[in-house]
Amino acid sequence: MNIKKSEQLFEQAKKFIPGGVNSPVRAFKSVGGNPVFMARGNGSKMYDVDGNEYIDYIGSWGPHLFGHNPSFIIDALKHAIDNGTSFGAPTEIEVKMAQLITELVPSIEMVRMVNSGTEATMSAIRAARGYTGKEKIIKFEGCYHGHGDFFLIKAGSGALTFGVPTSPGVTKGNAADTLVADFNNIESVKKIIEQNKNEIAAVIIEPVVGNMGTVAPQNNFLTELRNVCSEEKIVLIFDEVMTGFRLSKGGAQELYGVKPDLSTFGKIIGGGLPVGAYGGKKEIMEMVSPSGPVYQAGTLSGNPLAMNAGFAALAYIKNHPEVYQTLEENSVYLENGFKDGIKSLGKKFQLNRVGSMMTLFFAEETVTDYNSAVKSDTKLYGKYFHEMLNRGIYFPPAQFEALFVSTVHTKEDLDKTISANYEALKAVL
Ligand SMILES: *Cc1c(COP(=O)(O)O)cnc(C)c1O
Repeated sequence: MNIKKSEQLFEQAKKFIPGGVNSPVRAFKSVGGNPVFMARGNGSKMYDVDGNEYIDYIGSWGPHLFGHNPSFIIDALKHAIDNGTSFGAPTEIEVKMAQLITELVPSIEMVRMVNSGTEATMSAIRAARGYTGKEKIIKFEGCYHGHGDFFLIKAGSGALTFGVPTSPGVTKGNAADTLVADFNNIESVKKIIEQNKNEIAAVIIEPVVGNMGTVAPQNNFLTELRNVCSEEKIVLIFDEVMTGFRLSKGGAQELYGVKPDLSTFGKIIGGGLPVGAYGGKKEIMEMVSPSGPVYQAGTLSGNPLAMNAGFAALAYIKNHPEVYQTLEENSVYLENGFKDGIKSLGKKFQLNRVGSMMTLFFAEETVTDYNSAVKSDTKLYGKYFHEMLNRGIYFPPAQFEALFVSTVHTKEDLDKTISANYEALKAVL
């Protein structure tokens, strides 16, 4: 594969951009090698600057539920741009957008638009703290909620209850207010709550995890979490930045039948433009400025280009409920093809899938939480990733990420991916 121009661009990029990229995972650090620079996308395909074609399974890390450049989103954008890019004053499309979100996701009574998933989760935590008058939060090891200071915390060794920063620049104060529990382990949550009685404002969770690779909630984990939070008057926040509008029109909360107090969105909700949103119960959202005292603002929040693109995506979802059937069919087809390949090679790798989110873990045992995910052979994943890339399949450049199936992956795409997977595995094992 010729990636000469990509290599040149990366050399130049590293001079002017930290690590040569504007978001770390793009740099291929955890799989080795240098990133390829993209030039354009169309449907299920991306094309790099050297002219190589890839079947895309990252979909810009989630937004591209309908592949690249779906005509109904591009048309909405073209229409919007003729009327101006931003006003800093309210517009009709913001009202339509908020109304549509509350219609599609029943737990959302009011919603505030922001510009990224990170902004959405930071603001949701602030609203929960303002509402409860409490300061501590519980997150789950391995769940990602954007790069806000108080999310960049992992469990310290041994003691379940003391978090430590995962990044320099995050203060001990932040770490002290973030408590870390184990996903799929309700006892770990109860224990933390007991030890911090009446001090916890919110529990935030990826209801289906994508950011340690795909991990599903087991048994009644989400229901039990809902019950514990209700009993203790803790605000339950579902971070549906990835799962919202992907797993169903109402997200993971619809799929599992659990109603959070607040939810955060991003990715699909922007139709490929930078958008986030947080919303939920009216009495919590009314705490947010200007209707309440919890401050939160944004110069470009509710921006008309982003709103028109996002509205087009959500309106399409509303009018085409069969979208989720298509996603499921495509994903089942891919999963079965992969499983056959793995089996015929005599391996026991874990293939986790929920809807159109899927991860092949190079691990022998079931992956249900962070501790079981990190048992994966990440070196092997790195080799596998490059074997796939060389065969024109763009998978997540890290083991602990979900791949995304879109509505526009064709049977031909999926068949090509299944045989590439078999060949790639054969090459690395
Ligand atoms: C991507 C993601 C975020 C962060 O969103 P950005 O738009 O990248 O800031 C937060 N939470 C989850 C679950 C995500 O997948």
